[in-house]
Amino acid sequence: MPKTKAGRGGGVRPGLPVDEDGLLVVDGSRNMVVPALVFHELRRVGVRILGRGYWGIAYQTGEALARRAAAEMRTRLGASADSLAIVRELSGWARAHGWGRDEIVSLDLGSASAVVRTHGCAFDAPDAHGRDAECPLSCGFWAGILEVLSGRPTLGEETRCISKGDPYCEFTVGPAPPGGPGPA
Ligand SMILES: [Zn+2]
Repeated sequence: MPKTKAGRGGGVRPGLPVDEDGLLVVDGSRNMVVPALVFHELRRVGVRILGRGYWGIAYQTGEALARRAAAEMRTRLGASADSLAIVRELSGWARAHGWGRDEIVSLDLGSASAVVRTHGCAFDAPDAHGRDAECPLSCGFWAGILEVLSGRPTLGEETRCISKGDPYCEFTVGPAPPGGPGPA
């Protein structure tokens, strides 16, 4: 009989396909359930050591994840799936995994442009309220998605952020400037 007892002390969480060795495989990829606090601490320590350099690391991490996720979603949905369907699937995936709820405000692949809002963004740390946007990983993610779907280099900017007191985080993606170095 499989051990599925919930609760503290090492029981397997019901509803999560975690095996006895602690492997949680979802859609063919290994996953971890981590508190958002892990990302908040990573940001705090990253900024303390690297300053703004942390943003570049997180942004490019988001871009890399997006390239992979978009390619996998394209394979799963089939070659005929349109780009909006891929974006909606990725957005649904993020919501189902507790990252927040995305609102696609605009999407224009012809100009490699999009505006996406995230309500209840998981990356906003309670102690981060200030002047800086705090969600470069999400920003890089959306820039990467637009890059894959449009086939053009993109650049994203977080124009509004819950951490700055805005009601939601808003990511604006557009084509990268010609010859530009990409995100700082
Ligand atoms: Zn934000």
